[in-house]
Amino acid sequence: MPTRATKRGEERTPLERDCDVLICGASFAGLAVARELRSSGADVLVIDRYEIGERQTSACGIPTAWLEQLDLQRSLRQTFGELVIHTPHATVNYRLPWTFSTFDYRELCGLLAEQGAFTFETAKVDGRSGHTVHTDRGDIRATHIVDALGWRRVLGAGENIQPPDALLSRGLEVHPHGGGQDMEVWIDRSYVPAGYGWSFPAGAELRIGVGSFDPRFHVREPTERLATDVGSETVRYQGNWIPHALRPATEDGVFFAGDSAGHCLPLTAEGIRTALYFGLAVGRELREVLAGSRSTADAFQSYARFSDGHAAAYRWMLHCQRLVPRVAPRLLAGSLRAMQSRRFLDWAFNHYLEVAHPRYVRAGTGAAALPVSVLGGS
Ligand SMILES: Cc1cc2nc3c(=O)[nH]c(=O)nc-3n(C[C@H](O)[C@H](O)[C@H](O)COP(=O)(O)OP(=O)(O)OC[C@H]3O[C@@H](n4cnc5c(N)ncnc54)[C@H](O)[C@@H]3O)c2cc1C
Repeated sequence: MPTRATKRGEERTPLERDCDVLICGASFAGLAVARELRSSGADVLVIDRYEIGERQTSACGIPTAWLEQLDLQRSLRQTFGELVIHTPHATVNYRLPWTFSTFDYRELCGLLAEQGAFTFETAKVDGRSGHTVHTDRGDIRATHIVDALGWRRVLGAGENIQPPDALLSRGLEVHPHGGGQDMEVWIDRSYVPAGYGWSFPAGAELRIGVGSFDPRFHVREPTERLATDVGSETVRYQGNWIPHALRPATEDGVFFAGDSAGHCLPLTAEGIRTALYFGLAVGRELREVLAGSRSTADAFQSYARFSDGHAAAYRWMLHCQRLVPRVAPRLLAGSLRAMQSRRFLDWAFNHYLEVAHPRYVRAGTGAAALPVSVLGGS
């Protein structure tokens, strides 16, 4: 069990205040927004129900260049140049044109938080009326509000998103002690009819899990079976819902970034770099508003356009997510083998990286100024 650092009971003092920017959610998206506001001079408040880095929200795998560009290498645990994919009829090794790494969640969040300049408070967000956010410690009024709260989209205009009817996947993993050299994926219907299993080594620990694109399919038993099949213990569980469709990135005077805006990529369920990427974009828009060089209305429009500009890539990946489970297993094995050519892999994985490219970190300016190639086009 993770150590609970969050204050409880009487230690949870009332929190009633105003601020310029209220960022709800202190994980990838929220901390990326805060980072971009570091020299804004604004009163920035970040809130989360847990302490920063207390509750890991993923297997923590990311293209290495994102860690490098954000100066987060100290959190890196292990790097992979290949992806090993197992199916019932074939195992293929894909040599990647760029590397992928696992990192330590607590350490990464700590390093990212150090890059910002903000006040942090633990509080559970319950809802919002206009520019007032209601928390279990009181009401906070803010000129600008960011929802980086993950899949529930707590601050949206309507009802919160509810599984299993929403466009959500579900994922669960265990974190046994152990090691390995390979980043492995299983596309195998004996584990999950639509989805995949994974094992990501991270130094002294493995992160072994199963994700289902069908939210009605329960993943606990297959996760435990996969861990057992690879000779690992079923300990230290971590799981969540994962959105697999874009949602409006702005609504009713609120910015949404990361899972709250459905920014996790369909098919691969990779949502960390996109949460960072869209978080940076929100931060840059707000920075210009706070500097007086852009109106709030313009910033909303520009960020919404930026998010929508990625819709084609997300639709294409959702199409693949729906297609793969329908392909007969032998045909799938043959197709995966056929895709092993160096040229094809470079093309496919480089296009995939373009959806949220690490060069965006140093691009430095508002979201709208980006070239088309960065927006997921070809
Ligand atoms: C099992 C699993 C493994 C995954 N592995 C990977 C992976 O290896 N690589 C990858 O790229 N993606 C992975 N993902 C997807 C990835 O975890 C998400 O896309 C990513 O975490 C989204 O980041 P975020 O900042 O938007 O939201 P989150 O990381 O979910 O953060 C939301 C924050 O909001 C806080 N919060 C939520 N509700 C409230 C509330 N009411 N009040 C106050 N605070 C609140 C939470 O405590 C949390 O800190 C995985 C997902 C799952 C479920």
